[in-house]
Amino acid sequence: MAEEYFKISGGYVYDPIHGVDGQARDLWIRDGKIVEPPTDPQVRPTRHLNAAGLVVMPGGIDMHCHIAGPKVNTARKMRPEEKRRDPPVYRTANTRSGTLGSVPSTFATGYKYVGLGYTTAFDAAVPPLSARHAHEEFDDTPCIDKGFYVLMGNNHYIMRSIQRNEPQQLKAFVAWLLGAAKGYAPKLVNPGGVEMWKNRASGNVHGVDDLVDYYNVTPRQIIREVARAADELRLPHSVHIHSNNLGMPGNWQTTLETMKALEGHRGHMTHIQFHSYGGGDADESTFNSKVQPLADYVNEHSNITVDVGQVLFGETTSMTGDGPLGYYLSNVYKSKWFSGDTEMESGCGIAPIKYRNKSLVHAWQWAIGLEWYLLVNDPWRVAMSTDHPNGGSFLAYPQIIRLLMDATYRKDVLKTVNPRVGRQSVLQDLNREYTLSEIAIITRAGPAKMLGLTHKGHLGPGADADITIYTPHENKETMFELPKFVIKSGRLVVEDGEIRDPHLGKTLYIAPDYDRDVETDIADWFEQYYSIRFRNYPVSDDYIHSSEQIACP
Ligand SMILES: [Zn+2]
Repeated sequence: MAEEYFKISGGYVYDPIHGVDGQARDLWIRDGKIVEPPTDPQVRPTRHLNAAGLVVMPGGIDMHCHIAGPKVNTARKMRPEEKRRDPPVYRTANTRSGTLGSVPSTFATGYKYVGLGYTTAFDAAVPPLSARHAHEEFDDTPCIDKGFYVLMGNNHYIMRSIQRNEPQQLKAFVAWLLGAAKGYAPKLVNPGGVEMWKNRASGNVHGVDDLVDYYNVTPRQIIREVARAADELRLPHSVHIHSNNLGMPGNWQTTLETMKALEGHRGHMTHIQFHSYGGGDADESTFNSKVQPLADYVNEHSNITVDVGQVLFGETTSMTGDGPLGYYLSNVYKSKWFSGDTEMESGCGIAPIKYRNKSLVHAWQWAIGLEWYLLVNDPWRVAMSTDHPNGGSFLAYPQIIRLLMDATYRKDVLKTVNPRVGRQSVLQDLNREYTLSEIAIITRAGPAKMLGLTHKGHLGPGADADITIYTPHENKETMFELPKFVIKSGRLVVEDGEIRDPHLGKTLYIAPDYDRDVETDIADWFEQYYSIRFRNYPVSDDYIHSSEQIACP
């Protein structure tokens, strides 16, 4: 039988993992994967797409966003005013209907991501007890591959293992928990602080060496031990860390101590913009940027990667596994507020917020994000993110790309924000402009490497045929906001902004090996404390409709 080939010919290919930097190349696809061109010159492709004059990149990968699970769904319900205001996504022959606003519905999330040229996205904070909820929403989120990180920075079993000095037990539990939830990576959110918030009024930790009630462990111990476990288990992604003191003036020192707490283990510092602040006291005018000393540390320590968490001006919804932070934000913005606890696992906070360009703090947040992109020397260790929807929507990525590629435009925008930031930020002196290759790194090739996804983020043989094709344009925001074609798993899913194929996509998860002896102890723990029995806790293989297990090498 003749082999079915799909050929994309003549595009300017940007594939940084293979050192291809805008050269015209042909791509051959078979069974959803990129393949070597057929050796027989007589072979004709069954499908052909002429990409001459167009820019071809691997599909985008968002390594940190909030798109599924209980807090996302609660946030949707909390913002009816947005649903009334923003036009919905209408049903067509290929699409279901959906709502937008800062927290789009499942279907709209899939369509909007793929319409932007993103083919993979990871939700950053799912309580393992709510894993089924996240998986069910993933099954309803079309067109993209997706996965989630498992909250474990305030997990009682983890803190007890550290308290008892049982690193083997902790390692086995981390592996078991990831497999039970069918998650992708361990996530720490304000380690220890959320547990304190659950214990007492306005409770929190305020640095990495504070003691957590009852367990008498510190955030530093939680960070180090989970990072060590992730390394020893050879997880594809490192531990993913939302540090203590998010958003607080002067928090940069906590961030620096968090990076030191890794003690050389791999660690990913997420939405680092929110953790790079100088200043202090109640005096807002002292608020400033501490990106330089932190970026210096990142530049010197190759075990650390970051994503930015860029803030864009406008209204959005903050949602976080950091319960005390949600309360803090609802007080700052005098907004409605939701707080939730998940048994012995985690918490969450939700509050609508609005970033204003004339606000000193908000203008600093905007500038600090851009400083991060421009002050980390190695683009392979900084990923683009807005912490969707916390800093802004993922739909703002083309705007960030323009700010990074066009220094004149960036400085023009800097002139429109709070004048003190305009004068004090190093942005006014930074002339660095990202190249298309560097954009390809921070939006797809780099995140794929950080996540250990060897079959994504590149266009070599064996890669998933997730491909985005753009029409070149001088204005990079225009170029990136509406790809000409998006191919997912070898299928043409988007053409000129229209969904042509309601492809589902897969859920990516890991199932690391662990010492099975630990199960007796975990089962005991469940019998004593959980509302659900041990044998009912793990998400079974048949629970997810379309999935792919990623190996721990
Ligand atoms: Zn986040």
